[in-house]
Parts: sequence; C-alpha cells; structure tokens
Amino acid sequence: MLKASVPKPDPLNWPRPAQACVFLDFDGTLVDIALAPDAIVIPDDLPQLLHVLLARTQRHVTLISGRAVYDVAMHLPEFSGDIYGGHGAQSRIDAKIHNHHLAGSTRVRWFQTAVRDYVADHPGALAEMKDAGVVLHYRNAPDLADDATAFVQGLVGDDGDMVAHPAKMAMEIKPADVDKGQVVERLLSTDRIPLFFGDDTTDEAAFAVVNDAGGISVKVGDGDTIATTRVAHPGAVRKVLWDWLHES
Ligand SMILES: [Mg+2]
Repeated sequence: MLKASVPKPDPLNWPRPAQACVFLDFDGTLVDIALAPDAIVIPDDLPQLLHVLLARTQRHVTLISGRAVYDVAMHLPEFSGDIYGGHGAQSRIDAKIHNHHLAGSTRVRWFQTAVRDYVADHPGALAEMKDAGVVLHYRNAPDLADDATAFVQGLVGDDGDMVAHPAKMAMEIKPADVDKGQVVERLLSTDRIPLFFGDDTTDEAAFAVVNDAGGISVKVGDGDTIATTRVAHPGAVRKVLWDWLHES
C-alpha cells in the first residue's frame, strides 16, 4: 500500500515544458526493476517519450542513474541527452564522457575483487561492476540481506574515499563525494523549474535539492520519502509525463 500522505502529482499545475528541466532516474523509475540488472525490458513508448521530452524542453532532460553511463546508453541507444552514471561519478555531456578520479583505480579494483569473491561463494548473489565502484545484489537470494550488508560495511569500514550505500536489495560501494543531489545542484538554472523522478534511497538527496529550489519531486513506489508527490510504478511515471506533454 502506498502511503496516502504523499499526494499524486498533478501535471496540469506543473510548469510548461519550455520552463522546466527534467531529471530522471532509470531503474524503478522509467523501467521496472528486474531480477538482474541485465534483465530489464525497455517499455515500447520510452524512447519516443524521451525524444518528445527533449524536444519540448529544448533538451533539458538528464538521466541520473546508479548504473554506468555506457550501461544506460546501451539500453537507450536513441537517447541523445546528457546521462550521469554511478550516481554522478561518471557523465556523458554533449556526447563526451567524463570519469571520476577513482575510476579504474587500484582501490576500486580491490573492492570489485572482494565482492566478486563473495559472490563466487554465495549462490544467488550478483556483482555489478561500475567504473568507480561495485554493487552487490542479493535480489535472487534475499536471505543474504544481513550477511551481504555486514560484508560490504565491513569491507568499506572507514575508508573515507569510498562509502557503502544501501539500495534496493543491494549494497553499493561508491565514491564518497558523489550523490544525485550534487548532480542536480550543479545543473539547476535560475530560469527553469526542476522536476525529479526517482524510486530509491539514493534519489532522496536529489529530492532535497529540488524541493529547496521550488521544484517538483516525484517518488516512485512505496517507502519513506521527502518527495512532495508519489506515483505507484514506472508505468505511472510514463503516463504522467505523457499527460504533461499532451496538456501543456
Ligand atoms: Mg532507481
């Protein structure tokens, strides 16, 4: 059950697309989460929706995902807008890739090897590699939740440069100095109202920035949030965006 205290978004009261900048998470927001990151299915209308959004906002549409940039781009080959990956550790801006200073570093590779070794010993666990981090997924082995969480927290300890971050049925190790809120903060402009859509705990930092800027924050699915509106699932995100484009 969705908490009734967070109302549904009302696209009739949103700024017109020409006055908005749209920030979109990917997994769980535009596409349904699958048992493994590679198993997602791109909805038929999504490429066209992003195309129309780019056109109507004069290209003010940015994808901000936990995935690596190339991973998002591989699933959305027609999307020509900017993409931030690894929660902001990597970006593709005007088709040019920018990487975090820890990308490919010995430090990151050490964490990746440790998580790979853990996965090899724990059936159902899955390792997702990123340029500047690694994710330990346990969606296929939910009994591992406590063990995997303790393992990752112990591994990271008080590293300082890298932090452990809980996600949906996963534990992520990422650079300490990146989060989606910082990305949105950098991209805010005084002449446009920000809209941010996200489903996970990593999106809350971006909701905070968008709320402070007088924008519209949309939480997808259940769970505590500081977003001011909520929809139930990715299909509802796409519908509300289409409604906005048709009505404004
Ligand atoms: Mg997500």
